[in-house]
Amino acid sequence: MRRLSTGLTVFWRSVLLAACALLLAGCGTLNSARMLAPSLSGMEEWRPGLFVEPAMSAAQRQALEQQIALGRAQVERFFGAIVTAPYFVACISFDCARRFGSYGERAAAFGDSAIRLSPDGLQAALVAHEWSHAELYRRVGGWWRISAIPRWFDEGVAVVLADEARHSPANWQEIQRRGLSTPTLDELVTRRDWTEAVRRYGETRAEDPDNLRRVYSTAGHELRGWLACAGREGLAGLLAGVDQGQAFDALYARLGCGGPGRISPAR
Ligand SMILES: [Zn+2]
Repeated sequence: MRRLSTGLTVFWRSVLLAACALLLAGCGTLNSARMLAPSLSGMEEWRPGLFVEPAMSAAQRQALEQQIALGRAQVERFFGAIVTAPYFVACISFDCARRFGSYGERAAAFGDSAIRLSPDGLQAALVAHEWSHAELYRRVGGWWRISAIPRWFDEGVAVVLADEARHSPANWQEIQRRGLSTPTLDELVTRRDWTEAVRRYGETRAEDPDNLRRVYSTAGHELRGWLACAGREGLAGLLAGVDQGQAFDALYARLGCGGPGRISPAR
């Protein structure tokens, strides 16, 4: 009886933890409990851990599988090894993406458990970006510690890893050339900070060629500089240190070239 009760406690704790991770992790506002059991909401588990909208054609499924493999390889190259195995929920209609909690994001990570891909997010770079969030989430100790790292750091690592043209060093130079204002790191610490900045700088539309993605580019620029000093070992050391309860700011300053706040806001 006691064993049964302990088992049930562990079970419910796992459920609650998963729910918390789903609600609190990822890019943007994530609120869909459907991600917990995609099959119950009409998705087809085409491969183990890959849920697709049933209307997805054979060719689309194969293309998706290839993009996930390419994205995974990007993550593996960056970290050296992958410690997470998130399952994927991939939509080819925006209705489907909305049902699973999308507010227009191309992709989103749910803790280290799952990644949702919208019709405009079925790309290796998006897989790599979201998988980076899952890896950091796991490596810093999960839900209990993810808020110990600032959002600009989490997003910056994902930007560098995914290497999208829209967040590239060339794009950063263009932002500087035009003399556009950029957020300070202090304005990008919490999830709420990040969401507000993304709104303030108009980065809410997936396709918007006139928008230079100043928020994501700021995080990417900061991390490129830091990683040039810290390297992969420094990154691993920082994540392990946070996992062990050490303060992020001290680790970041010690392992990098001078700590946060290197970016001067161009206001
Ligand atoms: Zn992100």
